[in-house]
Amino acid sequence: MSAKEYVAEVLEYVKESSPGQSEFYQAATEVFESLVPLLEEDDRYREHGILERIVTPERSIIFRVTWVDDSGRIRSNLGYRVQFNSAIGPYKGGLRFHPTVNLGIVKFLGFEQIYKNALTGLPIGGGKGGSNFDPKGKSDKEIMAFCQAFMSELFHHMGQTRDVPAGDIGVGAKEIGYMFGEYKRLTMRFEGAMTGKQIIWGGSLARKEATGYGSVYFAENILKHYGLEIKGKICTVSGAGNVAIYTIEKLKKMGALPVTCSDSKGTIYHPRGVDLNTLKAIKEVGRESLEKYAHIHKDATYIPLHQYPEGGHAVWNIPCDVAFPSATQNELTLVDAKNLVNNGCILVNEGANMPSTPEAIAYLKANGVYFGPAKAANAGGVAVSQLEMAQNASMQSWSFTEVDSRLFEIMKNIFNTAMNTSREFGEEGDLLMGANIAGFRRVANAMIDQGAV
Ligand code: NDP
Repeated sequence: MSAKEYVAEVLEYVKESSPGQSEFYQAATEVFESLVPLLEEDDRYREHGILERIVTPERSIIFRVTWVDDSGRIRSNLGYRVQFNSAIGPYKGGLRFHPTVNLGIVKFLGFEQIYKNALTGLPIGGGKGGSNFDPKGKSDKEIMAFCQAFMSELFHHMGQTRDVPAGDIGVGAKEIGYMFGEYKRLTMRFEGAMTGKQIIWGGSLARKEATGYGSVYFAENILKHYGLEIKGKICTVSGAGNVAIYTIEKLKKMGALPVTCSDSKGTIYHPRGVDLNTLKAIKEVGRESLEKYAHIHKDATYIPLHQYPEGGHAVWNIPCDVAFPSATQNELTLVDAKNLVNNGCILVNEGANMPSTPEAIAYLKANGVYFGPAKAANAGGVAVSQLEMAQNASMQSWSFTEVDSRLFEIMKNIFNTAMNTSREFGEEGDLLMGANIAGFRRVANAMIDQGAV
């Protein structure tokens, strides 16, 4: 059987065994198809059944989360934790609270996390979790009630050497606080079993900034490789959450001009540059709609979601040099890719997980647009989470500068690893392929060493 046939066979198995999980199938296809050159060269991966094992979570936990809302009504949600792969370290990956969360979404995110974590070079396995709970419109008391109920089941499966969750969409420092408090109460242990904690009780400086800053460092590495720099570049950023805000902050610090941000209701276009204080006040502190931004800054335009051009997203129709999709999966489609190319974009750098559809990626590649794939470009968050674990385990806290300089080095190493691997397999500059092969090889080799488990 050829490597291509082996990949096709395992993908067929994924389709049959995970019906309706389209995002998971998409993620598996993207990774496995790019592994063909490695599988052709090394038979061990097939002999050891690595693809069929790596695509199956070691454990999937699905549980009921029951809580009481402010009106006294008993509410019920689904909770998930997918412990995907522990070949190189304890499970590590975020929790997402969003109404669209289901098992397929959590599996796609967990599957991506395996390779991302391996790419950082740090000892962390892959996992992901969350709930279809929607924190929007809930009171603080309701969010706390939900987080405590969620943790009352999850704590059985966690621990600093076992599974260390963090935040993701809908889960920020507040939710981590409520969950960590409950974990501590139930286990009677104060330990680094979660990351993204507040600084005064075990969090790491620069964790909040890490994914966004890391994404910009990664983009800078790509541009530098081609004799360019981020300074002076017009950048479009989607999203208005943790990743987007700190991408915008770092871009400004490095002399670029970020001109957009967006949320689930619309896009802000501010040609003289997004105002960070306003953005943070509206989305980080207030958790309000971005529409308010245009009331404060009269020279900014608010484009509501329903006014998006046919089949595309307004944010990708705004001329830019570099695009940073930093909101959610499949937010950048073929139409958007065409708009970006027509408007002269030279680099798409993925801050969110799997934000570009396969058709969009193929179109960008065919048109010579440089591409920073998510599992490399947004790995800064999990890398600094691991630094938070290291600080907790050694009872130390490092300065912002110390953590930021480690993050900078990690992102440079990830870039070099992906670039060198793409060169090794004859596709120099294909960072998607380079990142997938490098991440996979580290985990797969560890699985071979550890035998049939
Ligand atoms: P946040 O919850 O902080 O922000 C998410 C942002 O994206 C919000 O502005 C939200 O809009 C918008 N958004 C979410 N879902 C949709 C949707 N379906 N359609 C349009 N807009 C949407 O999340 P993060 O910034 O933490 O995460 C963003 C992305 O980055 C995700 O893909 C996440 O998995 C990925 N990521 C995050 C890391 C981290 O450290 N936080 C690490 C690595 C990857 P609104 O405000 O209206 O809800």
